[in-house]
Amino acid sequence: MFHERRESESSQVANLGVTLRKKQVKMMSILVLLLLQATASYAFPANLETEKKNQQLVQNYLEKFYKLNGNEELSKGKSANLIDEEIKKMQAFFHLKVTGKPDAETLEVMKQPRCGVPDVARFGVTTGNPKWDKTEITYRIVKYTRHLSKADVDMAIKKAFQVWSKVSPLTFTKVWKEEADIMISFFSGDHYDNSPFYGPDGVLAHAFPPGKLIGGDIHFDEDETWTKSHLNYNLFLVAAHEIGHALGLAHSQDIGALMSPVYSYMDIDPFKLPQDDIDGIQKIYGPSKSPIQPIGPETPQQCDPMLKFDAIFTLRGEIMFFKDRFLMRKHPSNPEVDLHFISALWASLPSGIEAAYENSDRDEVFVFKGNRYWVLKGFDVMPGYPKEIYETFGFPKTVKRIDAAFYDEITGKTYFFVGQKYWRYNENKQSMDPNFPQPLAFGFPGIGKKVDAVFKDQDSVYFFQGTRQYKFDYEKKRVLTLLKTNSWFNC
Ligand SMILES: [Zn+2]
Ligand SMILES: [Zn+2]
Repeated sequence: MFHERRESESSQVANLGVTLRKKQVKMMSILVLLLLQATASYAFPANLETEKKNQQLVQNYLEKFYKLNGNEELSKGKSANLIDEEIKKMQAFFHLKVTGKPDAETLEVMKQPRCGVPDVARFGVTTGNPKWDKTEITYRIVKYTRHLSKADVDMAIKKAFQVWSKVSPLTFTKVWKEEADIMISFFSGDHYDNSPFYGPDGVLAHAFPPGKLIGGDIHFDEDETWTKSHLNYNLFLVAAHEIGHALGLAHSQDIGALMSPVYSYMDIDPFKLPQDDIDGIQKIYGPSKSPIQPIGPETPQQCDPMLKFDAIFTLRGEIMFFKDRFLMRKHPSNPEVDLHFISALWASLPSGIEAAYENSDRDEVFVFKGNRYWVLKGFDVMPGYPKEIYETFGFPKTVKRIDAAFYDEITGKTYFFVGQKYWRYNENKQSMDPNFPQPLAFGFPGIGKKVDAVFKDQDSVYFFQGTRQYKFDYEKKRVLTLLKTNSWFNC
């Protein structure tokens, strides 16, 4: 897999000839026409203006990041097929439903800010798998940005190189003059490498695979606002991604990977390089020299028999499974499970949520991490949160976190699980019931141990402990069935 990834990398930006670029421009007008015809049957919104914009977006995206290059003489039918085919490739890359049509979901992904390096080989040229044939690599920051102080840029870049030196035998040394292996610059618009930037958002940066001259170099779009925080766009995260390219890595289809082409904010303090990226760099340069090999977080796979969850809740008829920074979303009528970043649906929620429940009567979801909670209304986080759990729910200060929770709409009570005990909260009176906490074994015999996650679906309560799930009869107070955690996913 990584072999292929590097192959596709080798024919990226650096190989674009000026002649091809010119031909492309000439063919552009023809292609626009063809595209208009080709997409006539697509289900675009009725608004003509939006329709036009979307067609332009699809064309630009496929030309930049896929194989649509418009430099061949094509008949109408062939061109429509070509666009469909490239849309299909893009949809497959991003694990979308492969329809070959620019549906809403596809357009949404195309609008996301991303790296300028293509996802597939543009002209099918394979020039081998480029890599540095040494482990001591130099870098130089040639041109700084006006958005951050020099010291902040130096620190972000240094930390970004450390991401890769920690997991591989590579070392990175900063130099201040002459040619370094990796030359780093911030540029606006056209900067004479046939890959101009186009202002804020869209393409954030690009990099060239290992090699002489421009090989290994990294360019950031100076028209972006660069930050050292969670605000767009965090320089350290984008730099770490681009350095991956400068070392020979291509884009990964793992949405959780640092080498995924789309920008998404990840925890940076501390930053944990995902396992997919560790595997990628070690495939090229071998293992780290440290005696203990580094491991990184993995993107949850719905059919992994070892799958565990942090928290589960229902939301307006769907079931939401939280895991690290991810959310698996299951609609009862849809056999597929959608994987998202939690932050893509609720921007201000942190990763590593520990408990959650839906109060369906109030159409509100309560989400817990540590001693704080947030309230969600659909896909909005209510203002004024997070708040502490003590005042609202009446927990004593000895409770530092909640493992799991569910709401029973018949009695109007919410059950909170903390270690081997549980609490019962009266949602109508807005107060904790007296005589709680009680031992878990008393109210829920057969569950016994600490609970990872729980939710209620019709008359049953589903408890999750490690890789096990217990279907519990709430009326009869007994375990009905032992299931795998991913029994909801048609595995
Ligand atoms: Zn990239
Ligand atoms: Zn450039």
